[in-house]
Amino acid sequence: MDNGYFGEYATLVAEAGRFHGDICAGIEIGTRMTMSGLKRINITDPKGADRKKLMVFVEIDRCSTDAIMALTGCKPGKRTMKIRDYGKMAATFINLETGKAVRVVTRMGKKGNGEGKAQLPDFAKAPEEELFAITDVEVPLRPEDMPGKPLRRVPCACCGESVMDGREVEHQGKTLCKPCFDKADYYHMVA
Ligand SMILES: [Zn+2]
Ligand SMILES: [Zn+2]
Repeated sequence: MDNGYFGEYATLVAEAGRFHGDICAGIEIGTRMTMSGLKRINITDPKGADRKKLMVFVEIDRCSTDAIMALTGCKPGKRTMKIRDYGKMAATFINLETGKAVRVVTRMGKKGNGEGKAQLPDFAKAPEEELFAITDVEVPLRPEDMPGKPLRRVPCACCGESVMDGREVEHQGKTLCKPCFDKADYYHMVA
């Protein structure tokens, strides 16, 4: 298997496993996703020389995301990892210097429910094309998506809470936070 310069699978999966707590299938998948993604965008030293060149979008809040975080050094708090919780085992790796970006999505688990557990491949050996579909993509990034200090902060006209980084919505002449605009949130007030 061509590992590029980034690292050997065995070393990387062990590192991701230490971060996550164990080496499960998701850690193995996330390790291979990271290897494939970084190779395509020519990032060889994500936590060293290339650390300011990399951003990752992940599409699930599961084990594979921990592997990607451990191996790339990208973190939500650094604004270099964006979590889009679509429930898909997919991630997009972006070289911020060149603009090159690839989306890596797993080919496993395409079977519907009730067809039994899919046979897992040998992640140390399986060819990349067996594991993933990889496509070149463009990711439009706004200045307020980038690492660094918050560019702006506005109060929501409805709840009064502060909204940073352009996440507000303009609606009928009012500036609203997203939950007030959607009239929905992940919590309910306790009476
Ligand atoms: Zn796990
Ligand atoms: Zn609000």
